[in-house]
Amino acid sequence: MPSHKEPETRWAWVEIDQGALRRNARAFKNLLGPRQRLCCVVKADAYGHGAVPCAKIMHATGTDMFAVSTVMEGVELRQGGINEPILILSEPPMTAIDTLLEYRLMPSIYTSEFALAYGERAVSQGTVGKYHMAIETGMNRIGVHYADVLEFRHEIDFHRGIQCDGVFTHFATADEASGWDYKLQCKRFDEAVAAMRDAGYECGIVHCDNTVASILDKSTHYDMIRAGIGLYGLQPAEVTRSIFPLEPVMSVRARVTRTTHPAMGEGVGYGFTYRVPRARVQICTLPLGYADGLARVLSNRMDVLFRGMRIRQVGNICMDQCMVAITQTSMRQMPEAEIGDIMTIIGRDGDAQITMDEMARLRDTIHYEVACGFGMRLEKIYC
Ligand SMILES: *Cc1c(COP(=O)(O)O)cnc(C)c1O
Repeated sequence: MPSHKEPETRWAWVEIDQGALRRNARAFKNLLGPRQRLCCVVKADAYGHGAVPCAKIMHATGTDMFAVSTVMEGVELRQGGINEPILILSEPPMTAIDTLLEYRLMPSIYTSEFALAYGERAVSQGTVGKYHMAIETGMNRIGVHYADVLEFRHEIDFHRGIQCDGVFTHFATADEASGWDYKLQCKRFDEAVAAMRDAGYECGIVHCDNTVASILDKSTHYDMIRAGIGLYGLQPAEVTRSIFPLEPVMSVRARVTRTTHPAMGEGVGYGFTYRVPRARVQICTLPLGYADGLARVLSNRMDVLFRGMRIRQVGNICMDQCMVAITQTSMRQMPEAEIGDIMTIIGRDGDAQITMDEMARLRDTIHYEVACGFGMRLEKIYC
């Protein structure tokens, strides 16, 4: 357990393995040709891993651009000293325009109203507002419909206050890169880009691949890939596991804050959803709960690691704490815990491991959501 440092004020924390992050970023860089760029997606506080510290590591491995979801996420990167181009992955409200220009954040644009307002503001400040044009190719989320791209460009391109720095789309089904739905999105994107180029419109950096598409289909790398989940060492699909090894970056650990041996039949936690089933059960309290990303639906269903072994979480998970049980059976003699002992919620301990995937399955969600959750309140320690 690489726990060199930990927070001073709390016995629960997230560990970020900077070396793993660096190696993952390099693996994506190595997928690319010399003229292709890597855009690192650090939205949602770098999927819970900490946007500014992660962006600094990615910068050192040769990232060409960063992408975030909200304007304030972009501001945070600028204030943290990040100087690469920053792309906002959707069109913000028009009231955000001054902030975009002040911090040199490129919006994704797909309405002419926004484009023209952005251009007006830029001209009045004696500057040019760069943007990326989002193209709707099938996900039905954002973008100019693929059949309307020429009309859109005709409506806005006369404006000297805006400059198209890139055009992009986003795949809905890239984990099935041989599937018909994916191929149709590719075709619509190709045709939209070709139509704009034929009509003489500047397209700038052409990009569409997220993590899974960039691994499974090199033919769609174009000028840049937008890697997110894979940077954090999480496999985007079962099929990529064997072809593109990645190292998990986040671990979650806590120290035992209290131990007790309740009598058989005693309940544990709100509602007594667990009752001590036998003699010699040690109940240990850990100081993290559902407000830290440990979803309450995991109650009585998840394991944690203690001295390289699995033990069961018991009772309902509270907002800020949860309990685990060390149960002695005739089959298994377990070491007991003491106050201050470390337990692992996500990560490795000896030969044992609990992955984000395992927890995501138990929660009926995806590892993206699990990682974001742990990043929300727990302090992050960079090791
Ligand atoms: C989140 C996001 C990405 C990154 O996706 P991953 O699956 O995490 O690689 C890329 N592009 C857009 C538009 C996104 O919203």
